[in-house]
Amino acid sequence: CGIIGILGKHQAAPIMVEALKRLEYRGYDSAGIATVEDGVLDRRRAVGKLVNLADLLVTDPLSGFAGIGHTRWATHGAPSVANAHPHRADRVAVVHNGIIENFRELRREASGPYESETDTEVIVRLCELFLEDGMEPQDAAFATIDRLEGAYALCFLFDGEPDLLIAARVGSPLAIGHGDNEMFVGSDAIALGPLTDRLTYLEEGDRAVVTRAGVRIFDADGRQTNREMKRIHVDA
Ligand code: GLU
Repeated sequence: CGIIGILGKHQAAPIMVEALKRLEYRGYDSAGIATVEDGVLDRRRAVGKLVNLADLLVTDPLSGFAGIGHTRWATHGAPSVANAHPHRADRVAVVHNGIIENFRELRREASGPYESETDTEVIVRLCELFLEDGMEPQDAAFATIDRLEGAYALCFLFDGEPDLLIAARVGSPLAIGHGDNEMFVGSDAIALGPLTDRLTYLEEGDRAVVTRAGVRIFDADGRQTNREMKRIHVDA
């Protein structure tokens, strides 16, 4: 129900947990984060309140300056650790808000094995197949997004890619935050407010390639496009 993504200059885990707290108002049943450190993708997930995730991170820390985080409001599959986001395959992790309507059909193509009951996991299974075919992460993510039907805000993080997030939206809001040699992805201005005052809202069908150097946005027809950057003010 809430998404945060960070390409930062500090440890991402505590910053992401704080951002997820600001998204608590949307409701959620579980939460999780993934980071890339020394090129290696890893994740932590917990059911219930964010304090459970924060406690887990004390006993089992997750370091890295790049990461994605999620609060989940279950639509497919019970609230459980296995169903909590981020979902991951070998080389890719994803957080998702919304519903993938054609997930059963896609599951036949990307046969798994599946670890969860969610509609979301098929996204990483499909993306992993494209990566195995030799596609670059951006192309693999875009090819995956091309296949999705339904409503989604998505943020992808890749093993071996500490300076790349791919974000996309259809039917669920998502914004890109511009920092000083840092970049952010978030569900709304409340999530991103304390991190930056410069936001670019993605429009329907947009896909964003985010690196610390900036963002490139492609519209639903695949054309690179300019979206207005807005100054926001949020009381932290
Ligand atoms: N449909 C996904 C799930 O049930 C995402 C739910 C959400 O928006 O948090 O895992």
